[in-house]
Amino acid sequence: MSADIIDGKAYAAGLRGKVAAIVPGFRAAAGRAPGLAVVLVGEDPASQVYVRSKHKATVEAGMESFEHRLPDTATQDELLALVRRLNADDTVDGILVQLPLPGHLDENEVISTIDPDKDVDGFHVVNAGRLAVGQHGYVPCTPLGCLMLLKDRLGDLSGLNAVVIGRSNIVGKPMAQLLLAESCTVTIAHSRTKDLADVVRRADIVVAAVGRPEMVKGDWIKPGATVIDVGINRVPGAEPGKTKLVGDVAYAEAAGVAGAITPVPGGVGPMTIAVLLRNTLVAAHRRAGVPLAK
Ligand code: NDP
Repeated sequence: MSADIIDGKAYAAGLRGKVAAIVPGFRAAAGRAPGLAVVLVGEDPASQVYVRSKHKATVEAGMESFEHRLPDTATQDELLALVRRLNADDTVDGILVQLPLPGHLDENEVISTIDPDKDVDGFHVVNAGRLAVGQHGYVPCTPLGCLMLLKDRLGDLSGLNAVVIGRSNIVGKPMAQLLLAESCTVTIAHSRTKDLADVVRRADIVVAAVGRPEMVKGDWIKPGATVIDVGINRVPGAEPGKTKLVGDVAYAEAAGVAGAITPVPGGVGPMTIAVLLRNTLVAAHRRAGVPLAK
């Protein structure tokens, strides 16, 4: 058996297209474009790449992109003052502070300072709480993207056994909440989980968000299960000095057993930015009191 490949790149392109198609109507109704402010502190190369990609995608969708760069010597007070200015700026609908921040800065305080109604990353405790109790808020982009791929593939998820490996605040926990809200029977596994392979073998849906290259083996997967691989791990490539990206799932093995699987790259990765644009569009409509076209 060979699993269907879940093409996150194509799904994300479609979602970005849908967002771009709605933007002109918002512009006409609100007299301005939806605006996303991205704050980058320091020179971390990976963060610079992410911020550039977010800027490009925002502009391509017809939205306003506001980039704010602070040196890695920036103080907590300077960063908080910038976040407060963005909270007060009516042309800004979404605020994203690129993580990780340099070690001397307090991420929790920064995230708590973002207006929850502009928190398009969904990291503020108010939005985590809204997700937990089933209220409208903002859901972290990566798990929401995973859910979209799962629903596109499987339709109704109710009653399915879902195992989420990883319990971080940005992926594992919100993923579990989303699957619970879809009436899955959800197990959250982590580094202290006993007999992980046996736990995963019960799953109709496996979401791996661990950060360990190819940890989830093919013989852990129930035949026909749907596998969502969130992991992005850089490992040595076939040629000396070259590297390649792999997920948290041993793809070749798992693809022989699963019903469907996301590749790395080209699976979950492209969904994150597409969902960020979607969250920003939603924030713009809510803030401006403009109904969101379906
Ligand atoms: P974290 O490091 O915050 O969390 C990793 C989780 O995996 C923890 O809950 C940890 O358990 C668990 N874990 C670690 N080792 C094991 C193990 N041996 N067995 C079972 N569980 C284990 O990572 P993130 O959630 O931020 O990211 C996870 C992965 O997803 C990374 O590869 C990251 O690069 C990728 N990612 C991809 C995104 C995308 O856009 N596609 C976006 C965000 C992340 P414990 O809590 O017990 O320590």
